[in-house]
Amino acid sequence: MKDTIILYPAMGRGHLVPMVELGKFISTHHHNTLSIKIFLLSSPNITTKNYITAVIATTPSIKFHHLSPSQNLLTTLQSFISQSSKPKAFILDFFNHSAIAVTATLNIPTFCYFPNAASTVALFLYTPTIHHNTTNENTSIYNDVLRNIPGLPPLSPEDMPEPMVDRRSQSYKSFVNMSIQMRKIDGLIVNSFEKLETKAFMALKNGVCLMEEKSPRVFCIGPLVEKSKGDNSVVDDGCLSWLNLQPSQSVVFLSFGSYGRFSKSQIKEIALGLEKSEKRFLWVVRNPIGYERKELSFEELLPKGFLEKTREKGKVVREWAPQVEILNHDSVGAFVTHCGWNSVLEAITCGVPMVAWPLYAEQMLNRVVMVEEMNVALTLKENEDGVVKASELEEIVREIMDLERGKKVRESVLSFRNDAFVALGDGGSSRIHLNELIELWRQWYYFFCFIGF
Ligand code: UDP
Repeated sequence: MKDTIILYPAMGRGHLVPMVELGKFISTHHHNTLSIKIFLLSSPNITTKNYITAVIATTPSIKFHHLSPSQNLLTTLQSFISQSSKPKAFILDFFNHSAIAVTATLNIPTFCYFPNAASTVALFLYTPTIHHNTTNENTSIYNDVLRNIPGLPPLSPEDMPEPMVDRRSQSYKSFVNMSIQMRKIDGLIVNSFEKLETKAFMALKNGVCLMEEKSPRVFCIGPLVEKSKGDNSVVDDGCLSWLNLQPSQSVVFLSFGSYGRFSKSQIKEIALGLEKSEKRFLWVVRNPIGYERKELSFEELLPKGFLEKTREKGKVVREWAPQVEILNHDSVGAFVTHCGWNSVLEAITCGVPMVAWPLYAEQMLNRVVMVEEMNVALTLKENEDGVVKASELEEIVREIMDLERGKKVRESVLSFRNDAFVALGDGGSSRIHLNELIELWRQWYYFFCFIGF
């Protein structure tokens, strides 16, 4: 009988998809000995439903189990154990950290999977140290600590993820507590690869984020991203057929994750910037902030005459586009992104240079590493009111597409694309990390049998 690994993802697309991709990765290389069970906390939403249906059809060694709202994780796991055997490992998303208490009760080896950069994980694990070494009052000590976080380039307070800033807030307290909990689990699995983030990975590996405490082992098994389907099954609002008509590497793609929204005036600035740049573009536009109850038409959203004036060069789609398929298309030359980690990995694996426009969560930190460590992106500057003016966007679009700095970024991205391919291939670092992880599960199993659990 095969051994089971249970995955317990958070349900947002940026968390669910990379966790399922981890299941596929384990399954591809170890399907003879391991089967994967994925516990889903709620029904998939519209953007993940088709994805899951495709996984069910193509990867039979992965089974999905829907936890109903009344179902308790402890009893579900107990009944699973009584019907088959104890899972070899339980891998949870850090948002589901409350499950750690349950798996500890049942003595199931527990791992946390981060669909984030190793740099984010390093900062996250270092949070209690920042907390202990700084106060609200002394900003110069705080600034000094941020400039010296192991494995990270010097940070400033603006680069910190929002929940980690206000010490009095509940989210800050939960982050510090979650980080302390993470130090105690059996291992951290990170969707990145050694070569992309060598410094952060070494800091995590050597436990320097944790000062004197014992550190969990770290496994960098990425980049795991959804694969392009490469067929006509994608519902895409005409994006791909439009891209087919454009010259190679001529199009700037703009998309801002699952949640990225702008004010109405910022949308107008983007439109004017694109028009003035005279570059081809494919832009995913969402309803603006403050208009949650009313969907605005393109006429209400975009500057007068914009669609007519840019008809030859641009395409605007509403709400959602098949990003992986688009980034894989030869016509795409650059990507203006909110710096969500999945988007960054997708761009790197497709060899597309980026313009960084972080909006929420840990994206400001991602921007620093993307620009200063990896050189895979140029950055946009906001004015003092937090607005990116049309002239700024125009200039950066020209720079990433045509100018020397843009060319350097492209070279860097292409080199990381190659490294990513090597990392995931036979003998590559991510495959070695995966094998080490599986060997660890095997050893534990014998250890638990030996001591009679
Ligand atoms: N995505 C997409 N189409 C869109 C917007 C987003 O397919 O119009 C996908 C994108 O390819 C990525 C995910 O949604 O896989 C977003 O994850 P990311 O970590 O980049 O950002 P988040 O949404 O978590 O902020």
